[in-house]
Amino acid sequence: MSVASRPMTPGKTRACPHCKATILESLSICPGCLHHLRFDQEAAKRQVAASSALRVEGVIQHPPREEPWEYFVVIAVRNDRGEEVARQVVGVGALQGTEKRTFTFSVEILPPQAPVPQGAPPPKPGSAPPPAAGLKR
Ligand SMILES: [Zn+2]
Repeated sequence: MSVASRPMTPGKTRACPHCKATILESLSICPGCLHHLRFDQEAAKRQVAASSALRVEGVIQHPPREEPWEYFVVIAVRNDRGEEVARQVVGVGALQGTEKRTFTFSVEILPPQAPVPQGAPPPKPGSAPPPAAGLKR
């Protein structure tokens, strides 16, 4: 008898019981607070196999002789019609002296949930990069 994997709707969400962030129901580890949410080896494997489809990192350093700066970090998500579907302030703060902050933004893509047929080679994470979003015209 084959292992019955629980069918899940792609994109279905729930609230993390620890940090209250809205996360994917299929995750076994909250990407926000990194708490383990349930013991599910398949979900954990799938999450480990997630690949970064987009990752941007940058450093902002305050010039030593200028007045202190205040900053806020905003992330917005738009759909294929250009409509904003999410917008969130994820952090605020101030910089002074020679202080600096590193900002990292990433979009992780989970592999499909469909079980791999017997005999088929398992997908190799990282061997083929996912198609870059937004480049087709
Ligand atoms: Zn959490």
